[in-house]
Amino acid sequence: MSDKLFVYNTLSRKKEVFEPINPPFVGMYVCGPTVYGDAHLGHARPAVSFDLIYRYLKHLGYNVRYVRNITDVGHLVNDADQGEDKIAKKARLEKLEPMEIVQYYTQSYHKNMEQLNTLSPNIEPRATGHIIDQIEMVKKIIDNGFAYVVNGSVYFDVEKYNKKYNYGKLSGRNLESLRTNTRTLQMQDEKKNNFDFALWKKALPEHIMRWPSPWSEGFPGWHIECSTMSTKYLGERFDIHGGGMDLVFPHHESEIAQSVAANKTEPVKYWIHNNMITIKGQKMGKSLNNFITLNDLFSGNNKVLSQAFSPMTIRFFILQAHYRSTLDFSNEALIAAEKGLKKLLNVFNVFDKLKTSGKSSFDVKEIQDKCYQAMNDDFNSPIVIAHLFDAVRMINSVKDNKETISAPDLELLKKIFNVFVFEILGLKSEKDNDQTELIDGLMQMILSVRQNAKNNKDYATSDKIRDELLKLNIKVKDTKDGAEWQFE
Ligand code: ZN
Repeated sequence: MSDKLFVYNTLSRKKEVFEPINPPFVGMYVCGPTVYGDAHLGHARPAVSFDLIYRYLKHLGYNVRYVRNITDVGHLVNDADQGEDKIAKKARLEKLEPMEIVQYYTQSYHKNMEQLNTLSPNIEPRATGHIIDQIEMVKKIIDNGFAYVVNGSVYFDVEKYNKKYNYGKLSGRNLESLRTNTRTLQMQDEKKNNFDFALWKKALPEHIMRWPSPWSEGFPGWHIECSTMSTKYLGERFDIHGGGMDLVFPHHESEIAQSVAANKTEPVKYWIHNNMITIKGQKMGKSLNNFITLNDLFSGNNKVLSQAFSPMTIRFFILQAHYRSTLDFSNEALIAAEKGLKKLLNVFNVFDKLKTSGKSSFDVKEIQDKCYQAMNDDFNSPIVIAHLFDAVRMINSVKDNKETISAPDLELLKKIFNVFVFEILGLKSEKDNDQTELIDGLMQMILSVRQNAKNNKDYATSDKIRDELLKLNIKVKDTKDGAEWQFE
């Protein structure tokens, strides 16, 4: 493994050396949420995965422009361009304006993302704020001959596009496999082929989200917003486009087709997709009724949870799997993640207690190299975490005088933990400082009471204090210099 960054590109289906188009600038577009409900685990995974990628690229010195959109129009209940708009439907059910729904759930999404310690994108464009740009792009696609107008709606002509370019190259599908028996659909469908998709839809009389256009009063299709906004803010060709694997088809496949049809340029150099979160092996989703929101997780207010889990536990749980692997959710897995995170963060309490000696008995530089190698191998966060845990074992051995560390190596080790734990993995200590100080003070008091009991040979009391603390997951350890404690 060299010191070059390798990223897996969905388009080529292999890992490629990362070479931005205009270094040190990196343009990164990630498909954001459709804001019609509370954010759930399925939103947390792409947010944390692309936050890791964003943080690491910045760490490497790239000047990243991170654009993540908000879908507030055009995403219909049925992906085949039929049915109600998801936001309009929610607004109708709640008797609110669609933009009230958008405002409420955008704010709620931002709050959840902040709790997960994800960095804000540089630009967060909304589809409804770019209707004119979308209309202009649709015009270009029509002018170039790759779209047709029927009854005020505009559809992308996939078959015609496929004669010149390759529709399906991202998802590995071909038109023949997509061609279903369209005869049954033809009566109600205006499309030439069932795989054509809407660029603009004429609004039915009851449809409330509508804008004027050259073709009809209506609204844009779901895919065109991302082609339009990525082009507008990152250019006709940019470095990274990301999103969940469930977006590869039809959303991203159609984005490529739209951009190529409009601009005659392949829009994206590296397509990056995170895998899904499953619950007992099943895809998570509202229809399956195994849907779990971030607010539920943070409050513990869901029957599958035995307790509340902190945002950092959720973040750590996500980072413990590589972004391209599936991640199976369970209460037990979160309990394990909570324990692991505590163990990792506890190291920061141990550093100041370590005694240095002339020579280190283990290779600290090697730990740093291995962490970088793991990140350079397609952002492999679980391997980074494994190396950090190896280091945690060594640190605890130094504390127990079983290993030694030199003063410069201790400084390097502190730097490694600060860089990888906080800056790159984006974890943070969740107890605020006041609370930490309070707990430290109380523990010193309890341990001095226990020491007095021991001095008076009142071992029943000193043992009782130790056992009661253990019930609170606080482990007391007697050393020759007095007692020490840590969260288990
Ligand atoms: Zn998108």
